[in-house]
Amino acid sequence: MELFKPLDVQKDTKIADKENVEKVKCLIIGSGPAGYTAAIYASRANLKPLLYTGLQMGGQLTTTTEVDNFPGYPKGITGPEMMEDLKTQAERFGAEIRFGIATSVDFSGKTHKVTIDETKIIEADAVIIATGATAKYLGLEAESKYAGMGVSACATCDGFFYRDKDVAVVGGGDTAAEEATYLAGLCKKVYLIVRRDVLRASKTMQDKVMNTKNIEVLWEHQTTDLFGDNGVEGATLVKKKGTPSEEIVKIKIDGFFLAIGHTPNSDIFSKFLDRDEVGYIKTKPGTSKTNVAGVFAAGDVQDPHYRQAVTAAGSGCMAAIDAERYLSELK
Ligand code: FAD
Ligand code: NAP
Repeated sequence: MELFKPLDVQKDTKIADKENVEKVKCLIIGSGPAGYTAAIYASRANLKPLLYTGLQMGGQLTTTTEVDNFPGYPKGITGPEMMEDLKTQAERFGAEIRFGIATSVDFSGKTHKVTIDETKIIEADAVIIATGATAKYLGLEAESKYAGMGVSACATCDGFFYRDKDVAVVGGGDTAAEEATYLAGLCKKVYLIVRRDVLRASKTMQDKVMNTKNIEVLWEHQTTDLFGDNGVEGATLVKKKGTPSEEIVKIKIDGFFLAIGHTPNSDIFSKFLDRDEVGYIKTKPGTSKTNVAGVFAAGDVQDPHYRQAVTAAGSGCMAAIDAERYLSELK
């Protein structure tokens, strides 16, 4: 370990450190609908926002094809195109968009410090967190193979493409029960693949599932593979895995929906921000304010319920307005 450095090296390090610190009024973390909308509003309010995109520039929608339910696109639009439009709109008003990942934060002082790529420190008066949430997958190779070709983690987004077809939903919680009942209204048949012999979902949701004629619950089934030449055509399941009555079951389906939970991308904020038991950042009801003054959260990272592009965009707008009011009171 090097305990002492020659004086000139110490001096150089200090200069390098200083150059690596940048001061901004408003920092936005994340480039999904929430982050870009916050950037549009913040730049129009002259907050000169700096936005770091994270690894997935454009967010979750860049992983999908058609988006049919975002207002303003009567003919639909592809996810990547829509996110490019939002980015262009934010840049039009002067938002600075940079590629980089927030790797740690220090929200202990009045000025908030966010480290980017473990090297650069941004000091911001206001920070808007819009880092989204990631759907959990089973980890099967087939899930990547059929991504956008029958595999989805969002029934509200993609259910429409499976009208009058047969689909399966994996999971036994409230989300799975909700997605299965939603899909049952559109599809011919819905299999609900549950790994245990009970549902984790609330009693009301369980009753809904049980009272919906075209939902068939496959108890104690686990998915091992998906098959099909042109997208998903079926799934291979194991019934009662690891017991003497273990059995391989194949079902014919056109769509395979994951509903086994989401992980909010909020770990780096855990030391400073209040989160719920899953990790969603808690905001004061009806606002984007977190428990730290000057730190705001928008989009899926603070939304366990809706997780839609339009709700994320709406809350991005709220965060920019909340940040603007906070900054004007700081003066
Ligand atoms: P996200 O879109 O998740 O974006 C999060 C952003 O944060 C990303 O840019 C990421 O790079 C960045 N980030 C994360 N961590 C860091 C970090 N440490 N530092 C810097 N940046 C970071 N919704 C609809 O309304 N209609 C649809 O048709 C639809 N289809 C969908 C299809 C698929 C396949 C999926 C997965 C979702 C779909 N959704 C749809 C849901 C929608 O995509 C999300 O609700 C929405 O994208 C959430 O927006 P967000 O801005 O909160 O976060
Ligand atoms: P969840 O409650 O964590 O349930 C996840 C489900 O997926 C569980 O049934 C779990 O099985 C199953 N699962 C997890 N990993 C799996 C795997 N590898 N293979 C097969 N199955 C797997 O998640 P959620 O349903 O998304 O709900 C999250 C929170 O939001 C909950 O608090 C829920 O109540 C709430 N929520 C509420 C509503 C509503 O009130 N309308 C709607 C949606 C969500 P096990 O049960 O065996 O663990």
